[in-house]
Order: sequence, then C-alpha cells, then structure tokens
Amino acid sequence: MVIGFYLRVCEIHLVIRMEYLFDRWGEVERALAPGALLLLDYDGTLTPIVERPELAILSPDMKELLKSMSRHYTLGVISGRSLADVKGLVGIEGLYYAGNHGFEISGPRVELVKPEAERVRPILVKLCEELREKLNNIKGAIVEDKGSTVSVHYRLVAEEEFEHLKNIFEEAVGPHIDSGVVKVTHGKKVFEVRPNVEWDKGKAVLWISGIVDSKGELKPIYVGDDRTDEDAFLALKEKGITILVSEGPIESNAKYFVKNVDEVKTFFEGLINLQTQK
Ligand SMILES: [Mg+2]
Repeated sequence: MVIGFYLRVCEIHLVIRMEYLFDRWGEVERALAPGALLLLDYDGTLTPIVERPELAILSPDMKELLKSMSRHYTLGVISGRSLADVKGLVGIEGLYYAGNHGFEISGPRVELVKPEAERVRPILVKLCEELREKLNNIKGAIVEDKGSTVSVHYRLVAEEEFEHLKNIFEEAVGPHIDSGVVKVTHGKKVFEVRPNVEWDKGKAVLWISGIVDSKGELKPIYVGDDRTDEDAFLALKEKGITILVSEGPIESNAKYFVKNVDEVKTFFEGLINLQTQK
C-alpha cells in the first residue's frame, strides 16, 4: 500500500513538473544564448498525424520556417521513417537527417548505417512478406518495409479487428524476439520491429550532438510527440531543452510541452526572432 501510494505521488509529481513552454519563454531564451542544435521529430511534430504515413506532407509555411531556422541554427530531423523517406519529405539541403530511429544518419560530412541493421535485414525482409500475407485480410492494416525496421500501422483498422491483428503480429514476430534478433516498440497506432541493439533516438541524438558540437557549446533542443521520442528526451534531460507535443502535460521525460504543430511553428518563429533581433 505504501509503495503504491508513493508511486502515485511520483506520477503526479512528474505531471506537475512538465511546463507549458510559452509560460517559461524567458528561461528558454536565456538558455539559448550560446546557440542551439535543434533536433526535431517529423510525424506529429512538423506535420499533424494523418491517416496514412504517405499523407504527412510538410506544409509550405513549415518548410519556410525550417529553412529560415537553418540559417541561424544547426538543424536535424530524427524520424522513425526510413532515411530516404524523411529526407525526401523535408527536402532541405544541409540538414542532418536520422532515419529508422537513428539506425541511418546522414548530414554534412556524416554518413552512418549501423551494421547491426544490415545484418538483421534478411530476417526483416522475410518477416515483412509474412506479415503482408497474413494481414492481407485485415482492412486498413499497412505493413511498411523501411529497410532497417518494419512498421505495422493500424490507424485505419476497425477497433474490433485490433486484437486479431495483434495476435497475428505477435505470432509472426515472437520467434525473432525469442531468438534475440529483433525487438518491438509501440508508437501512435503503429508497431515497429527493429534490430535488438542498444540504439534509439536518444543514442542517435547524442551521437549527432558529439559530431556537430564536439566541444558541447550549443544548447541541444529536442521536439517530439511520441513514445520513441522519450529516449531522446531522457538522453538530453540534463543538458538540453526537451519539448513534447501534447495537448496537455502528461508523464514524460520532456521538461516542456507545446499543444500541437501550430505551436511548434510559434516556437520556431520565436527562435528566429531571437536571432533577427540581435
Ligand atoms: Mg512523431
């Protein structure tokens, strides 16, 4: 009983600790004085969540904001999408891009493909085929082969079909989890199968930060909306500015929240203003 109560108190404590970013603008502004390394998730952060992944197109005004920001700050986009996909969707030269949650990274003077991802590739190809075949009868299920990882999207699947989909997914992936080859993470209406190695958005963010800013002079900022972004929030907890896109404060490793993609834009406008007013 005592432990249960304590945990509940901790949860509440965590919820209360998260601050609305614009209530704390002064402290953010002060922290950014030395310059910033801005690392951004894509889906749900730069574009609203949509029904099918291919519909998440960057709006012209968001693209303009990113371009303006890239003149003043070092910018990276860190996505669960494949590297080629996220690069194509953002379409701005000179940025750092990390695809497949950081298994592939590319940017000025940097190229990284984690070798573990290449080793697991043959298994993922087979798994993809199997999942496509078995989920074929479930309307709305999308199996996406992203090279180093595989996603099963179920946003368009009827609620009463979800258990069926989950069972098929678990049956297909289970043996590869048991043999230690892959692991599964759970995002917004998506299951993701990835190589079972200690590498995630948090490790990727620290890796990029080490390359771009080896002396640690820039303030890292991370903005994301999903569970996989929690790794990045955690990695930057002490030294960075971490911002969750969420309608309200929830339990998260992020220190601040903004409510939606429009407020992400407002934040970017604020960052640009800080530079142009200098
Ligand atoms: Mg996202």
